[in-house]
Amino acid sequence: RLSMVASDRPAAAGGKRSKAKGLPTIAVVGRPNVGKSTVANRMTQSFARGGLVFNEPGVTRDRTYGYGFWREHEFRVVDTGGLVFDDDEDRVFLPHIRQQAMVALGEADVVLFVVDGQQGCTPLDEDIASFLRKQPVPVVLVVNKCESPTTGDLQAAQFYTLGMGTPWAVSALHGTGMGDAMDELIKPFGEPSARRAVDDDELRIAILGRPNVGKSSLLNRLTATDRAIVSDIAGTTRDAIDESVVKHGRKYTFVDTAGVRRSSKVSKGVEELMVRRSLKAARRADACLLVIDASEGASEQEQRLASFIVESGRACVVVVNKWDVIQNKDDKLYANSKRYLERRLPSVTWAKQVYTSAKTGLRTNDIFEAIDEAVAQHRRRVSTSVMNEVLEDGVRWQKPPSTSTGRQGSIYYGAQVTVRPPTIAIFCNDPDLFGNTYRRYLEQHFRKSLGFAGTPLRLLFRGRS
Ligand code: GDP
Ligand code: GDP
Repeated sequence: RLSMVASDRPAAAGGKRSKAKGLPTIAVVGRPNVGKSTVANRMTQSFARGGLVFNEPGVTRDRTYGYGFWREHEFRVVDTGGLVFDDDEDRVFLPHIRQQAMVALGEADVVLFVVDGQQGCTPLDEDIASFLRKQPVPVVLVVNKCESPTTGDLQAAQFYTLGMGTPWAVSALHGTGMGDAMDELIKPFGEPSARRAVDDDELRIAILGRPNVGKSSLLNRLTATDRAIVSDIAGTTRDAIDESVVKHGRKYTFVDTAGVRRSSKVSKGVEELMVRRSLKAARRADACLLVIDASEGASEQEQRLASFIVESGRACVVVVNKWDVIQNKDDKLYANSKRYLERRLPSVTWAKQVYTSAKTGLRTNDIFEAIDEAVAQHRRRVSTSVMNEVLEDGVRWQKPPSTSTGRQGSIYYGAQVTVRPPTIAIFCNDPDLFGNTYRRYLEQHFRKSLGFAGTPLRLLFRGRS
């Protein structure tokens, strides 16, 4: 999903895109001493917390100031590698420096043009402005050193004459004004991810399970109310029927219920077709109910369905149905059953289990609450500062592995880049240094510290370009 973030985004003006990693790139331009590095540090430093190594010498050498994150966008910040006008040479670019600068600009999705509000507009600023106007890249003008509450805005206003749009008053030293400037800077990045337009008060649920586990009986229970609405959705298979029910002011739509209702009547040959059909339904859903027959337990088919739910990134509730046929139920039985299912379905150990009987109605209403909880976690967003505290903690408890050749994995910072499902980008020196064991460890650590019950969690390791 994260790769979509970059590749699906409409190309910025002139089709300029970061070739390096697919990350949107901000190129910082301005004459010496206006505060370019201070501004760049502001944009990236929030991720360089505590024990997480971040700004290493090598990073500036390749003209990358660092990586940053604003709202739902990650980006990298690059220096233009000496976009300097030489005063003594009639303020023209030295040819080789100009070439370097052009490369940096060619990679940029947006240019951050920094000027000095205390010095005011200089001829050099005007030269840079007229140069930038000819480049097919959007430019955001920030006027730095505007920390004075009385004169700051005035200082910024002088720069309207540059004809580069709104001059944004900031103080990199104090961090003021940066938020508005950042909002402006991320505009050319487009949508961070394909957000599904779903009304928050409507949840879409797919019911998955082998034939005969009780899916259609459950559906009857769940929609057994005067207000159950059967609706035909255009654009899908002719007989794909969605049924909705309103509970506690929330609308629950069960997707492709025709497929659910027919499943117990299918012959062996058609079974594969039914499975494919329910998987298709899952793709249209927010959450899946994975229904299991309590008297039969979880088989390979359930494992396949569970893996599918994880791969497609849907929230999940495990419904252990036909609980009425189980004899001698005591607390130990629940605990044992819970452990049994976690062992049999290792990919969804985070999912809540609800023990129901569609026949008697036992706890079928609890399913709605379990869906609500899972969906809330599925849509949950954790702030970057909290994320990094947890990440830092996890790295401290268990250091990233090193290879036989002695290379050591390093993690710089992490940020949640999207929801549905929660997806965490982890910036590191080299993703190849992190094997499955460490990735699983980190996922468990995130779950222990942050919850995320009911939803898959994605960790994306990103290397430095
Ligand atoms: P660069 O050459 O454009 O990268 O500029 P630097 O980031 O190295 O900053 C040049 C000087 O300006 C340094 O002495 C900074 O401390 C100072 N400076 C940077 N930002 C601000 C600011 O917001 N306000 C003030 N008053 N000084 C700043
Ligand atoms: P589907 O193929 O998954 O849709 O399953 P059905 O809903 O058609 O149910 C299959 C069979 O199991 C039917 O005979 C149901 O009456 C029975 N059944 C469904 N749920 C329960 C339950 O909770 N307890 C018991 N004892 N039987 C159930």
